[in-house]
Amino acid sequence: MTMPRPDETLRDTVTRLLDDGYTGAASSVVRAIGNNMNSGLLEMRLKQLEEEAARLVEAGQQMRPDNAYLTAFFDTLEDTLKDNRALINAATGELGQNGVVAAETISLRLVTEGLPQQVVAAVNGQWNRPDPNAVAGLVDFTSDPAWNDLLKGYTDRMIERVNDRALFGFVNGWNPLRTARELRKLTQGADGSPGLAKFEAETIMRTLQLSSYRRGVAAYQAANAQILEPEAVRIAVLDMRTCLACVALHGKRIPLGEPVRDHWNGRCTSVAMVRGYERQIQTGEEWFNALPEGRQQQQRAFNNNPSYWAAYRAGDVRLDDFVEEATDPVFGEMVMQASLSGILGDGARRYYGQGRG
Ligand SMILES: [Zn+2]
Repeated sequence: MTMPRPDETLRDTVTRLLDDGYTGAASSVVRAIGNNMNSGLLEMRLKQLEEEAARLVEAGQQMRPDNAYLTAFFDTLEDTLKDNRALINAATGELGQNGVVAAETISLRLVTEGLPQQVVAAVNGQWNRPDPNAVAGLVDFTSDPAWNDLLKGYTDRMIERVNDRALFGFVNGWNPLRTARELRKLTQGADGSPGLAKFEAETIMRTLQLSSYRRGVAAYQAANAQILEPEAVRIAVLDMRTCLACVALHGKRIPLGEPVRDHWNGRCTSVAMVRGYERQIQTGEEWFNALPEGRQQQQRAFNNNPSYWAAYRAGDVRLDDFVEEATDPVFGEMVMQASLSGILGDGARRYYGQGRG
């Protein structure tokens, strides 16, 4: 029997449950990191650096790489980022657990949503709940040494960016005030932007939560294989932000009990189906094709990369072409959005500069 159902409710349910979980576990850490970057010692060092820059300008001098105030700023930035790392690390247990709890609720909710009452009752009665500790063991990404490398990379990348920017200022003979302003902008974010340190911390925590959730879903599906179809359906949260790879993969079948592969911040999951009650889920390609052309062009991936849109419009690439597999040391197999040059090689060149308007 086939159960047609509106996809919209399904996506809303997933989004709501996941966002609730993330906000609960990560918001205090993100706030603390924001405070670290915006107040206290780092703020004092930035102010001192700006005063020093003003003094140098007045004296008609350049800022030099070995300037004592600049060095003090870098030392404090490094310490602050180390504190941030400790904050992220302290939140990992709750984030992982949160992913597992969300997986338990969501996997069952998605399986039963829209089915007749008596089927829902039967599934609820037969649903296996594996030991949460066993599931938590499956989703523990943080005991791997690669996790520490990832956190170290968080610090190193940030320092490197700030260093590069300072160097760029020296090489290009910037006014010292401009250099100081740029360093503040990089560490704290400008125009209400969150600042790279905070943004990266959010990406790490979000990906940890979502990856734990996806492995958890796979574990709950596997534990209930006796009442489920042998294949689950991959679903994306289809909106303006969804990348082209995730649009292309939405609605495709994956083996039951296999975690969905996704990228950093990826929002895809899978829906298992009760045996005998297969769902008809519109594919991502069908969803996209049904959008008005003006709206298609606004899809963030196309809007940010007009040459991609030009190649797509010309029929030179299909949505499927944007699916690229990758392996991450912490999160394992991932799926990314391929670049146009990755797909077309030199052939991508003819689209550069096209696709606007
Ligand atoms: Zn995606």
